[in-house]
Formats: sequence, structure tokens, C-alpha cells
Amino acid sequence: MTSVIVCPACDLAHRVRRPAGAARFRCTRCRAELYRTHDVHGDVVLALCASAVVLLALGLAYPLIALRVEDTTRAATLTGAAVVLFQQGYGALAAVVLLTTVLLPLAQVAALAALLLAPRGGPAARGARWVAVLSAVRPWAMSEVFVLGVLVAAVKLAGVADVVPGISVYAYSAFMVIVTALGVLAPPDQLWRWLEHGR
Ligand SMILES: [Zn+2]
Repeated sequence: MTSVIVCPACDLAHRVRRPAGAARFRCTRCRAELYRTHDVHGDVVLALCASAVVLLALGLAYPLIALRVEDTTRAATLTGAAVVLFQQGYGALAAVVLLTTVLLPLAQVAALAALLLAPRGGPAARGARWVAVLSAVRPWAMSEVFVLGVLVAAVKLAGVADVVPGISVYAYSAFMVIVTALGVLAPPDQLWRWLEHGR
């Protein structure tokens, strides 16, 4: 299959014949990456999607972090933190926290799974809808920023109280790694290949 790819850095158009397996092309003028696929099987990506959902469920069910001062321990969950923000009058902030840490990463995983499970041979628009959802959601799913924020807060609080990381920290960190890996394994080009040829 020959297609034209325009360099995202310098706008030079390239006519490229795409191989069936893993490949990587660079712009002939500025060496920016034009195209890259990993030749990963769709079933592997589906398995990663399922793992991500289980890890997110664990991340939401268990405490994120516990603070211990003398004999008093206070544990906070991810959703609990958003509820407290809402109760203190920071409704917009609570919504942003929930959207960027839970709802949008989950939407990204769900759209990818839906695309892979969509029946072949139907109208292309059916699968293309999920590509559009994924492209819109991906820049807003910022689980890695959240994990970094939690780590920074934990280090700063360590001088004031005993900080006990909860199960949620580990589960959510693993969720973040998987969501990031899914973004690398399923670039937009790969999504179209799955749509055309099946997973
Ligand atoms: Zn270029």
C-alpha cells in the first residue's frame, strides 16, 4: 500500500510504501519521524486494556496515601480527594482531577478495546468513530502527571508526618505505565491498520 505522508516538522511530502511488519521512516530532509509501527498483535493490546481496567479498579478501591501523626492515621482515596475538593468549593478542580486521572484514561482504554473488538467488514465509519474518540481523548489523559504530583506531595509531607503509600499508589502507577505503553503501541497509523486488516 503506497501512501503520501507529510512531515509534521517541515511539511515535505513523501510517497511511502508501507510494509506489513514493524517499520520506521524518517523525513529525508529534516530526519523527523514520519511513521512508526511496532507490529504488535491486537490481542496483546486487548490484554493490556483489560489489565488497565483491573488496575484502575484497584487504584480507586484502595487508599492512595495515609498520613500518620502520632496515633492518628488519615487515609485518602483518589475519589475521596475529589469529593473533598468539591465540598470545599473547588468544584471545577474536582471535575478536572476526576476527568484527567480516571474518566479520560478509562475512555482511552475503552475506545481502543472497542476499536479492536469492532466487527470487520462493516462500514469503515464505525471503527473510525473510535479512532476519532481516541485522538480527542489522548492529550487530556494525564495519569502520569498525577502520579508525579502524588510523589512530590508525599516527599514534601514526609517531614511533617509519616507517609504510608497505599495499594492504590502501586496499582495506579502500573495503570499509568500501561496507558503510556498503549499510546506507544497504538499510534493513529496502527489504528487504521487494525481497522483495515483486523487485529
Ligand atoms: Zn521533515
